[in-house]
Amino acid sequence: MTDTAIPQAKARPAPFVAEVVRTEQISATMVRVVVGGPGLAAFEPSPHADSYVKVVFLPAGAPRPLRSDGRLDLDAVRAALPPTDQPRQRSYTVRDFADGELTLDFVVHGDDGVAGPWAEGAQTGDEVLLVGPGGAWSPDPTAACHLLAGDASALPAIAVALERLAPDAVGHAVIEVHGPEDEIPLSGPPGVRVHWVHQGFGVPGPALVEAVAGLPPLDGPVSAFVHGEAGAVRELRRHLRTERDVPRDQLSVSGYWRLGADDEGWRATKRDWLATIEQSEVAAGLV
Ligand SMILES: Cc1cc2nc3c(=O)[nH]c(=O)nc-3n(C[C@H](O)[C@H](O)[C@H](O)COP(=O)(O)OP(=O)(O)OC[C@H]3O[C@@H](n4cnc5c(N)ncnc54)[C@H](O)[C@@H]3O)c2cc1C
Repeated sequence: MTDTAIPQAKARPAPFVAEVVRTEQISATMVRVVVGGPGLAAFEPSPHADSYVKVVFLPAGAPRPLRSDGRLDLDAVRAALPPTDQPRQRSYTVRDFADGELTLDFVVHGDDGVAGPWAEGAQTGDEVLLVGPGGAWSPDPTAACHLLAGDASALPAIAVALERLAPDAVGHAVIEVHGPEDEIPLSGPPGVRVHWVHQGFGVPGPALVEAVAGLPPLDGPVSAFVHGEAGAVRELRRHLRTERDVPRDQLSVSGYWRLGADDEGWRATKRDWLATIEQSEVAAGLV
């Protein structure tokens, strides 16, 4: 008699237990947190421009069971906590990784949430739990034109992508922030024009969408990276697919966050949201 294989839940990777090395206010609403320490020694960076880590926030007083290799057992932490008090995870782009130090840039968007308020108050020596890295996109070196578009949450990834472009690359980086006080220095090829879009403190997105729609024709093949608030991203995807004929496989596009939902709420609906968009593209004959 053969055993019937019982599907096992996939074990979560153990987090790196790192610490805050220093922080820096790099714009009015963005805080740079550099993390490092011996707990990060085994961290292996990803080669991709959109590389990100998940920062894990444990509730106060959470148990800290260890795996047999001595690393924190996140599955056991979860199992020991009630459903209402589970660890929270937030994704942040790897802005840099050098000399054992990982640089993350956090948008500070008010008192709501976990990660933004944490970053605003982060102090040297604070513990930081990290899982990753993930990410799979880099600018296509064969593209004739590059488009990098997003709000402040995508600014770290756009900054990395700009730095990775070839010196003769051409295109546009369009970044929506509240105002000039949120702009940061960027370095990229001279042929890639950086457009800062100021939305004030209104609804995020419309100013970004308008700015991208107002760009001159993009000579293809285009390599496009579009991330930020989900509603704006959806509108930009529609624009690029239907009005500029950018093929799906030349477009890295996703909602990094959703206005009116926290990250848990957004992740719970993201799959259906994406399916709806893809169905509408099929219906429009785009796929
Ligand atoms: C792959 C990936 C990489 C990312 N990289 C970065 C990065 O490098 N830097 C960065 O700042 N963000 C980045 N984000 C976005 C970030 O993970 C989300 O903004 C996250 O929701 C912030 O968590 P929070 O705990 O601060 O707020 P949450 O608890 O998730 O949300 C609380 C409230 O704040 C609102 N909110 C969330 N994010 C923002 C925002 N950016 N601006 C205004 N309101 C907001 C929500 O709509 C909600 O109402 C990335 C997301 C992904 C998926």
